[in-house]
Amino acid sequence: MIVTYSRNVFLPLTRNCRNNCWYCGFRSDLINLMSKEEVEKFLKQANGAKEALFTFGEKPDQVYPEIRKILRNWGYSNFLDYVVDMNKLAIKHGFLPHTNAGILKREELLKLKPFNASLGLMLEQAVELECHSESVGKKPELRIKTIREAGRLQIPFTTGILVGIGEKRYDRAYSLEVIADLHREFGHIQEVIVQNFKPKKGTKMEKFPEPSVEEMLETVKLARQILPREVAIQIPPNLVSDVYPFLKAGANDLGGISEVTPDYINPETNWPSINELIASLRGEFILKERLPIYPKFVKLKLFGNAVSELIEVYADDNGYSRS
Ligand code: SF4
Repeated sequence: MIVTYSRNVFLPLTRNCRNNCWYCGFRSDLINLMSKEEVEKFLKQANGAKEALFTFGEKPDQVYPEIRKILRNWGYSNFLDYVVDMNKLAIKHGFLPHTNAGILKREELLKLKPFNASLGLMLEQAVELECHSESVGKKPELRIKTIREAGRLQIPFTTGILVGIGEKRYDRAYSLEVIADLHREFGHIQEVIVQNFKPKKGTKMEKFPEPSVEEMLETVKLARQILPREVAIQIPPNLVSDVYPFLKAGANDLGGISEVTPDYINPETNWPSINELIASLRGEFILKERLPIYPKFVKLKLFGNAVSELIEVYADDNGYSRS
């Protein structure tokens, strides 16, 4: 059985965020925004990576006047226009952008679509949770609306659930059912990340227990039962001690792995090397590099116009990454 991964460079454009999730160790109120030069520096380091992973705080220009001022000085009237320009910069340097920009309206998705191989938004959980009580962007109905709108626009989409943030077992099943229904309606979900909560120092949830390995395995099995077969299940390889039991439980993707940038969301854990990953497959699975857009969507040509030339160069006949 094939297990996929993508080689990426992680671009945390800003840690400023309008939300305040109780488990988040990434968010900061110190004003910060990566300049074009910084983005370019990261891209130039990223030897062999094909994916530019844009992950950052949600709509920082809505709550930080200083961010609006920096953007104005750089010639942007809003944050999303700056993100689109950074997408274009990544393409210029030979990368396929995958952007996680939080909740988006139809017109905002349309802005990003031409310059991205795929887009992403973690559902987290499809139920209201206390840890999201200070996060307007974590209202389940808004997140579902964004994923649905991306479906209407036929944008290949990555979503996922965060396990162990106060939800009940049946909430996990419900959240996976919601994702499965969205995929059945629009066919656009390429992968679902099943991510375990990790407590971060200095956050409201620093003493909250992590989900056990057994609970995570049970959730991956549940995901495999609920999600249509063509939707991949991703387990982040830096957040579990051994991916093998998760692959046996039904996971078939190991996400984006970077040789040059850390996981800025979980900086306490290192990415495994490709050789370590191969060893962890115990000879039972074949590790294959994919692009930030899954083979099915490459074949359907459901990618932004601006990335089509790069995808033609990077994709093999089956839609995986050409080795
Ligand atoms: S988890 Fe994401 S949305 Fe929540 S505070 Fe952190 S950066 Fe913002």
